[in-house]
Amino acid sequence: MADNTTNRKDVIVLGAGIVGVSSAYAARQRGLSVTLVDRREPGSETSYGNAGILSSGSIFPLNQPSLLSNLPKYLSNRHPALRFDVGWALKNPGWIARFLASGRASQTRPRALALRGLIQASLKLHREWIVQSGAGNRIRETGWLKAWRGDNVAAAKADQAALAEYGIKCDLLDRQGISALEPNIIPVYSVGLLHTQTASVDSPGNVTKAYAKMFAGAGGEIRRAETKSIAPDNDGWRVALSDGELLARHVVVALGPWSPDLLRPLGYSVPLVTERGYHREFRPNPSRTLLRPIHDAENAFLITPMEQGIRVTSGVELTDRDAPSSYAQLDAVVPLARGVVEFGETVGEIWRGARPTLPDSLPMIGPAPRHAGLWLAFGNQHIGFTTGPATGDAVAAMIMGATPTFDTSAFLPKRYL
Ligand SMILES: Cc1cc2nc3c(=O)[nH]c(=O)nc-3n(C[C@H](O)[C@H](O)[C@H](O)COP(=O)(O)OP(=O)(O)OC[C@H]3O[C@@H](n4cnc5c(N)ncnc54)[C@H](O)[C@@H]3O)c2cc1C
Repeated sequence: MADNTTNRKDVIVLGAGIVGVSSAYAARQRGLSVTLVDRREPGSETSYGNAGILSSGSIFPLNQPSLLSNLPKYLSNRHPALRFDVGWALKNPGWIARFLASGRASQTRPRALALRGLIQASLKLHREWIVQSGAGNRIRETGWLKAWRGDNVAAAKADQAALAEYGIKCDLLDRQGISALEPNIIPVYSVGLLHTQTASVDSPGNVTKAYAKMFAGAGGEIRRAETKSIAPDNDGWRVALSDGELLARHVVVALGPWSPDLLRPLGYSVPLVTERGYHREFRPNPSRTLLRPIHDAENAFLITPMEQGIRVTSGVELTDRDAPSSYAQLDAVVPLARGVVEFGETVGEIWRGARPTLPDSLPMIGPAPRHAGLWLAFGNQHIGFTTGPATGDAVAAMIMGATPTFDTSAFLPKRYL
C-alpha cells in the first residue's frame, strides 16, 4: 500500500485534535506513511478544553425526546443547559428542524446502538493507548457522578433503566452514598447516579499531545501549518499550506468545528453547527479534593478535577462558531459549583470551545461520496474526546480497505452529502 512517488505520503491528516491525532496514529500503526497537519500544537483547541470524561454512557445525544418536552423551558433562553442566539436561530431554521426531528422517540434506539458501538470501541483504544503513550497516570477509573439537588429519584431511576437496556451500568446513590463516595463535597445532592464504567483524565489536552508524541515516535510526521485548501491531483490530493504544499494518496479531514470550511470549495455543504461551551479553572483546596467529575443535573454544569485546578464547564450555547463570547451561562453556574466544593481563585483565562454537531448528533466517519481518497472524520459533538480513537481507527481501517471494529453504517458521510 505504501506510496513510492517521491515526497508523496500515503495519508495526510488535517487537524491534530483527538480525532486527527487518532486517525494519524491508527494509519501509521497500519504501516502507512502519514503527515499530521495543524496550525497549532496537537490538542490545543476543542480537545484541550473539554471536561475530560471518557463516557461509557453518553449514548443519548442532546436531541432526544426529553429535549422536545423541555423546549418550553429552554425557549426562555435563560436556562444554563441551553441558550441560543436568536439571530443564529433565524438563519438556521432548517438545521434546527432536522435536529429536532432526529430527536423523535423512533430515532432513539438506532442512534443509541450506533453510539454504543463507537464508544465501546473507543474506550478500549483509549485504555490501551493512554498506557502505551506514557500517560497512564492521567486516567482515573473512578466513574462519573450525575447528581440531583432535588429529591429526583424518579429521574435518576429512569436514566439508570434507560442505560441498563444497553448494558451500561450505573449505581443509584442517596445523600449518604454520595458523601461516602465524595467525602469532600458539600452535601447539596440528594440523589446520584454513578456511571461506573466511565473514566476521566486530568488533562485532555496533554493526553492528546501524548498520543501525538506516540505517533511521532512511531515514525509519523507532524507539520505545523495552516491548511489553505485541498484539491484532487492525479490519483491523489494536493494540500496547500501556509508555507508550502503536500501531496498524498489520501487526505483525512479531521478539523472538528472547522471541517466544513475546507470542504465547501469541493461542493460539499456540510450541515455542521457548533454547540459552544466554556470552562473556567480554579485553584483547588488541597484538603477538599474531588475524586471524579460531577455533573449537576438540574443546572447543567460539570466540575472536573484537572491537573491545573478545578475545571467548571458550561452547557450549550447555539450560535455562530466565531461569534463573540458570552459568559452568561458560565457566570450563572460558577457560584453554584462553589456551593458543591470549596475552591480558590481563578487560574488562567476563560476558555471557549465549539462542539461540532450534525443534525442527527452522529459523527461523519468514512469516505466523501464524490471524491476517491478523501475521508471525513468530524462531528463528534459532546463526546469527541471519548470517541476520537475509534473514529480515527475506523477511518484508518477504511483507507486500508478493511472493516472497522464496530458498525459504522450510521456514520457514513453520504447520509448528508
Ligand atoms: C465545554 C465542552 C466540554 C466537553 N466535554 C467533553 C467530555 O467530557 N468528554 C468528551 O468525550 N468530549 C467532550 N467535549 C467534546 C470534545 O471536546 C470534542 O468533540 C472533541 O474535542 C472534538 O475533537 P476534534 O479533534 O474533532 O476537534 P479539535 O480538537 O477542535 O481539533 C481540530 C483541529 O483542527 C485544527 N485546524 C482547524 N482549521 C485548521 C486549518 N485551516 N489549518 C490547520 N489546522 C486547522 C485546529 O487547530 C484543531 O487543533 C466537550 C466539548 C466542550 C466544548
